[in-house]
Formats: sequence, C-alpha cells, structure tokens
Amino acid sequence: MLSKSFIEQQKQALLQKNEEIESQLKDIVNKDRQSTEYDAMFPDFGDKEEDNAAEVAAYESNLSLEEDLKFSLDRVKYALDAIEKGTYGTCDRCGGAINEERLKAFPQASTCMKCKNGHNGNA
Ligand SMILES: [Zn+2]
Repeated sequence: MLSKSFIEQQKQALLQKNEEIESQLKDIVNKDRQSTEYDAMFPDFGDKEEDNAAEVAAYESNLSLEEDLKFSLDRVKYALDAIEKGTYGTCDRCGGAINEERLKAFPQASTCMKCKNGHNGNA
C-alpha cells in the first residue's frame, strides 16, 4: 500500500513531467495552427531538390519525436488519472503492486517489473 505522501510526491513529479512534455511538444508544432491536434512542423529550408530532401528528413524526425512525446504524455496522463481513481501503483497486467523504487524512477509506470520483463520472454 502506497502512502499518501508518496502518492502526493509522485503526483507532483507527474505534473512536472506533463508540463515539460507539453512545452517540448509546443516547440515542434506549427505555431500558426490553431488546432488542438499537435502537428509536426514542416520546416522550410529552400526550394532546391536537396533542400526538399532535408525538409522531409527534418519533418520525419520531428514526427517521430512528436510521437514519442505524445506517447509519454499519454502515460503521464494515465498515471495522473490512476492517482485520482486510487488505482495508482497497481500493475495493469497482473493487478499486483508496483515496486516503490520503480515508481520513483519511472512515475508513469503502469506495470510491475515482472510483467514488464515478461515482455522479453525471460521472466
Ligand atoms: Zn504485473
């Protein structure tokens, strides 16, 4: 059973992560788009063929960074939601408790070490 103060500490860590990720996302989205969807910025390096290739490469790297950030943001929001519901620190797969050390290192963890390692087939 996680203590109230531990959960509060985790919540602060998650809120901070949430803010960090959102500001990173803002850096890579197209600023003149007033959309709630985050679109990867398409850079404009020039009109020559090699410029276009560089633009595509930069766009793709923005896109994959954006995907990574969105994924992390989802995990963080999920964990914050779990705190609200009182299910934080419970493994999504086996329903067991997630180790506090693991939560400290990775506040958005939603599976225990055993289930996570089970992924690799060597649990
Ligand atoms: Zn588990």
